[in-house]
Amino acid sequence: MIDTARVATPQSAIALEDAIAGVVSELRRDHEVDAVGLAVAGFVATDRRTVMYAPHLAWRGEPVADRVAQRIGLPVTLEHDANASAVAEHVHGAARGADVMVLIAIGTGIGGALLLDGEVFRGAQGVAPELGHLRVVPGGRQCACGKQGCWERYCSGTALATTARELLARYPARSSVLARESKSDPEALTGRRVAAAARDGDLIARRAMADLARWLGEGLALVADVYDPEMVVIAGGVSESAPLFLDEAREHYVSLLTGAGHRPLARLRTAQLGDDAGIVGSAVLAREAAR
Ligand SMILES: [Zn+2]
Repeated sequence: MIDTARVATPQSAIALEDAIAGVVSELRRDHEVDAVGLAVAGFVATDRRTVMYAPHLAWRGEPVADRVAQRIGLPVTLEHDANASAVAEHVHGAARGADVMVLIAIGTGIGGALLLDGEVFRGAQGVAPELGHLRVVPGGRQCACGKQGCWERYCSGTALATTARELLARYPARSSVLARESKSDPEALTGRRVAAAARDGDLIARRAMADLARWLGEGLALVADVYDPEMVVIAGGVSESAPLFLDEAREHYVSLLTGAGHRPLARLRTAQLGDDAGIVGSAVLAREAAR
């Protein structure tokens, strides 16, 4: 990455496209640009020109790639952000050489991506794989998607905070710095805070982290039984705390995987490109398309 420009995300669809055109022209002042890649957190149609739905953006069934291309006069590629991150980790990061790989981005929720023979697998309608909403607990925690018991309700930054809250309610006598903090300010109990407290040895936070590790292992076993990947890359904000949960997650995963003693196991790694992965991946895709 040789340069970056950043703007706040506007509310309306048109203002969003204005903002993209703005940063492109800002970067073009100092660099020769041949193509632009967009990585979007949302459903991208199979034509890869249209954003069907993006929960946190204004686009609803809009031909974003063509409209932006017309605006800036450059070819534009469009990709789901987890797919773009998987491409980046495959070409430049943790998954080099692994042609069947799964990326699991654990942050507020779970974003998933799958490469088969080195190519992004999008399913028939462009929306695969929706790993975060695999139901792991029938009748479990309510999810924003409308279902109950989705994987990301048990394995995400948000889940860390929920689990810590449940543990604090169940074991109020435990001396925990989180108990004191959440008593004075319930909003202070975030996934990031729980991870930091776990690092400091807080017992409640450690138990919440162990719970996340168990659910990560559960989900990984499901995913590996379906896809049989060569490598699983754990990305997203929560992956920064991997030393606190990855070994335990691996043990759960191995204990649940079908025929684990009789098959090669997928390697489990943390991402190397961090927050830059989506950007690097969309640049890779834009370059490929422009060739
Ligand atoms: Zn869900």
